[in-house]
Amino acid sequence: MKSPAFEYMRAESIAAAMTAYAEADGDAVYLSGGHSVVPSLALRLQAPALMVDLSEIPTLSGISLEGEWLRIGAMTRHVQAITDPLINKYAPLFSAAAPYVAHPAIRNRGTLGGSLAHADPASEFPAVAVAIRTELEIASPTGIRRVPADEFFLDIYETAIAPGEILQAIYIPVPVAGQVIGFDEIARRRGDYAMVGAAVQAVMTDSIVTDMSISLFSVGDRPTRAASAEVALQGRVIDNASIADAQAALSDDLSPTDDPQFPAHMRVLLARVLLGRVLSNLKVVA
Ligand SMILES: Cc1cc2nc3c(=O)[nH]c(=O)nc-3n(C[C@H](O)[C@H](O)[C@H](O)COP(=O)(O)OP(=O)(O)OC[C@H]3O[C@@H](n4cnc5c(N)ncnc54)[C@H](O)[C@@H]3O)c2cc1C
Repeated sequence: MKSPAFEYMRAESIAAAMTAYAEADGDAVYLSGGHSVVPSLALRLQAPALMVDLSEIPTLSGISLEGEWLRIGAMTRHVQAITDPLINKYAPLFSAAAPYVAHPAIRNRGTLGGSLAHADPASEFPAVAVAIRTELEIASPTGIRRVPADEFFLDIYETAIAPGEILQAIYIPVPVAGQVIGFDEIARRRGDYAMVGAAVQAVMTDSIVTDMSISLFSVGDRPTRAASAEVALQGRVIDNASIADAQAALSDDLSPTDDPQFPAHMRVLLARVLLGRVLSNLKVVA
């Protein structure tokens, strides 16, 4: 199937993009890497009158340290999460997750901003953004605001970005001493969307967990913080006993629904297995 005809405009600034969107009375769509929006047009899930290409807007590019934050421009490609030295050093959980996202051709075009704005609950990067407590910078016609990742993802394919607004950048707090990370997923084949995935960041002081952040994906309508599992690990060493308690606590954190692929209880079971695997293989990054 081919998409219906639409007008195309390549914006040179955020303001120009938002003006074009407004002049189309909202019957428009933004384009970043195109690996989610173009298939949805081809499948005729949407048929906008105008496509506004964001890829040449300078303020959406660039990766830089700003004090205690790493700023990643929304147009940063998936592959840069693997190759960029600043992301490797200051946002290593993005680097750990990136090889699991699709395949090289998609990672070469797909953008971090596009993945977060698209908010697929089975996607890797949204879960990482929640686990490492990023803040998302959103431009609107009235100004710029930063939204914590915990408040950014609202539902399936729904975020705090209002129609016409643009995600500009991702802000990541730089790692602190004792920080450890872990990432893994269970998928039928490498590159497929995950059946269940887990992104973990923690701070260990003298082998004791002083801060724990667990974000699971493909288990609900958005990335899911496993708050009870986090509490089960807080103030403890990570060993078989504390891991077993965290795995058991997942029953309180997760309430997936049955779907044509799996019954809900199977997804919880997979999440338990995966969490145990990730907690047993945490890697020191600072
Ligand atoms: C075969 C295939 C396999 C895939 N497998 C995976 C996978 O395993 N894991 C995974 O996470 N993803 C997967 N993807 C999706 C891929 O990662 C997409 O590239 C990504 O989800 C969207 O990024 P994009 O830059 O392509 O965004 P686009 O497709 O350009 O845009 C996606 C949506 O976000 C909006 N948008 C884009 N940028 C902005 C912005 N800056 N501000 C506001 N709105 C914006 C667009 O209007 C659109 O609605 C797969 C895609 C394909 C085709």
